[in-house]
Amino acid sequence: MRAKDGAMQDVVTGLQETRAAIARAARDFGRRPEDVTLIAVSKTKPTEVILPALEAGQVDFGENYVQEAKAKWPDLRERFPHARLHMIGPLQSNKAKEAVALFDTIHSLDRESLAKELSREIARSGRAPRLIVQVNTGAEPQKGGVLPPDVDAFLTSCRVTYGLEIEGLMCIPPADEPPSPHFALLAKIAKRNGLPILSMGMSADYEAAIQLGATHVRVGSAIFGARDYGTT
Ligand SMILES: *Cc1c(COP(=O)(O)O)cnc(C)c1O
Repeated sequence: MRAKDGAMQDVVTGLQETRAAIARAARDFGRRPEDVTLIAVSKTKPTEVILPALEAGQVDFGENYVQEAKAKWPDLRERFPHARLHMIGPLQSNKAKEAVALFDTIHSLDRESLAKELSREIARSGRAPRLIVQVNTGAEPQKGGVLPPDVDAFLTSCRVTYGLEIEGLMCIPPADEPPSPHFALLAKIAKRNGLPILSMGMSADYEAAIQLGATHVRVGSAIFGARDYGTT
């Protein structure tokens, strides 16, 4: 029990330190702390680790896998109805139905086939998550996201062909490059398209993202500790 209590305490400490660092970075760069939303990325973390964050007042959470979110969140949301869930991982078109039912915001819209499925499911269910288009700023073949030269046309297609209102852009810069040029590029594309949301910045680089205009930072390990994908 002791170790577990310690782990929960660490989550609350990690959350408080991250919130403080976000507020500091916002002020340093002439922005208002309340204009930066912290999304606590709880992928791979069990509900007993997420609970203390909810109890400490954290509202926004990010998950990468539909199945995992479906297993963890319905119970948590019954207890914390104000919690908001963000889909930040790659989304298969055949999971669009579950994603629309489960998430408040989808950050990983990145292709026509997914736009089509989401549009169909939103019309059918009457439930409309906020939508953010993922941009592959580093043009990495293994990564999802619309290529930068294709973003404007994709946004038009989402609006005109599928009737989807897109509110912002998201990116994950290449791991081996300085992130700031990628954040600046995302901000530029968002600005010219009149999009207010910029979902960018993770544990290692959210301060730089805030400097360049991030409205949503997605922070996992700085709050919940390193992820363990293997067996324990
Ligand atoms: C896992 C993940 C994060 C959080 O990463 P950390 O480095 O743990 O902060 C943010 N965004 C996306 C898209 C992720 O997959």
